[in-house]
Amino acid sequence: MTGRDAREDRFATIAVGAAGNATRSHGRGAHDVVPPVHLSSTFRWADGDDANEHDYSRESNPTRAALEVRLARLEGGDHGLAFASGMAAISTTVLSLVPPGGHVVSSDSVYGGTEKLLTELVAGHFGVDVDFVDARDPENVADAVDPDTDLIWAETPTNPLVRLCDVRSMADVADDHDVPFGVDSTFASPYFQAPLELGADVVVHSTTKYLNGHSDSIGGAVITDDDAVFEKLAFSQRIGLGNVLSPFDCYLVARGIKTLPARMEHHEENATAVARFLEDHDRVVRVRYPGLESHPQHDLASEQMSGYSGMLSFEFDGTLVELEAFVEGLDVFTPGASLGGVESLIEVPSLMLPDEVSHGEATAEIPETLVRVSVGLEDADDLREDLRSALP
Ligand SMILES: *Cc1c(COP(=O)(O)O)cnc(C)c1O
Repeated sequence: MTGRDAREDRFATIAVGAAGNATRSHGRGAHDVVPPVHLSSTFRWADGDDANEHDYSRESNPTRAALEVRLARLEGGDHGLAFASGMAAISTTVLSLVPPGGHVVSSDSVYGGTEKLLTELVAGHFGVDVDFVDARDPENVADAVDPDTDLIWAETPTNPLVRLCDVRSMADVADDHDVPFGVDSTFASPYFQAPLELGADVVVHSTTKYLNGHSDSIGGAVITDDDAVFEKLAFSQRIGLGNVLSPFDCYLVARGIKTLPARMEHHEENATAVARFLEDHDRVVRVRYPGLESHPQHDLASEQMSGYSGMLSFEFDGTLVELEAFVEGLDVFTPGASLGGVESLIEVPSLMLPDEVSHGEATAEIPETLVRVSVGLEDADDLREDLRSALP
C-alpha cells in the first residue's frame, strides 16, 4: 500500500477540494465554491500591486492553474501541467527531456500511441536510440541503461496487456544512473497508485480516462517533483509547443476529479466481479486483472497499488468470427476505444485497431483474441448477465 494518508490532507479531501476553492476570491466579493471557467484569452496588463498573475492563456490561465494545483496535490507532487491530450503530455515530456540522437529505455508494453511516438517520431525523426525491454524484470532495464541514457519510460499497469513494473526498483536503477524516470499511471489513476512516492520523477495521465471519467473530454497531465524537469516541460508546453488544455476541458476534468475516489472504488468492485465471472467461463483462456490471485504480478500489485482499478483484459477461446459475434451480441457493454468512463466499454484490438496492434517486432505481442474491458459503474449483475448471454 502506498502512503496516501501521509500527505497533509487525505486523498478524498484533496479531490473534493471545496475549502481550497472557497478561500480564493474570483471577482469582487465572490468566493466561488466551484472555480469559474475563465475563457478569456488575454488579461488586462497592470504593474505594481495590481499586477496580474496571468497575461495570456496559452502561458497561463486561472482555470487551468487551479486544475494543475489539484493534479499536483493528488499525485503528491510539486508541479502539475494540463495538456491537450494524453499523447500531448507524453510527447512533450519525451521531446523536452531527450535531445536528438539521445537514448531512451522504454518498457516494451506501452500504449499503442506511445509506441508509435517512440518508434516513428522520436527514433525515426529525431534519431533517438530507443531500446524496448521487458520491464517486468527491472534487471532488463538496468542492463539497457548506459551513462548516456536520457530517459527511462514505463507504464503500469499496461494498456492492453495489464502488465506491471516494479516502480521502486526501476526508480533505484534510474537513481543509480541519474536518469529521469517517467511513469504512465493512466490505468491506476492517482487514486490507486502514487508513482512519485515510489521514486519516479514524472507521472503522466491521459485525463481522458479516469480523471475526467465521463468520456466527454480529451486531455492529459504531467506531475513532477523535480524543479528542473518542470521548468523544461513548462517552457516546451507554454512557449514552444503551445500544448495546453482548454479552459472548458479543465473545468470538466476538475469536476470529474471530485468523484474520482467514489468512482474508483466502484470501478474496482465491478471489475473484480467481472474478472471472477470471466475466470470461470470455459470460453475464456486467461483473465489479466491485477486483483486476481492468478495474475502473475498480483503480489507486486498488492504492494505498490492501493487497489486494482477497473481495467482488465482476457483471451477468448475461439475464432475471430466468433469473437466478433460475441462483441455484437453485447447490450450493456459498448464496443469502442477509450476507457475509464462511467460506462463499460469493450475493445478487441485486432478487430478494431488492426493497424495499431503490435505483432511483437519492437514491443510485446498482443494476442489476436485479446479483449480489453473497461468496467464501468453499471449494476454488476447486468454486466455479468450481458457477458453470459453474449459469450458462446
Ligand atoms: C489513452 C491512453 C493514452 C493516450 O491518451 P489520449 O488522451 O488518448 O491522448 C496514453 N496512455 C495510456 C495508458 C492510455 O490509456
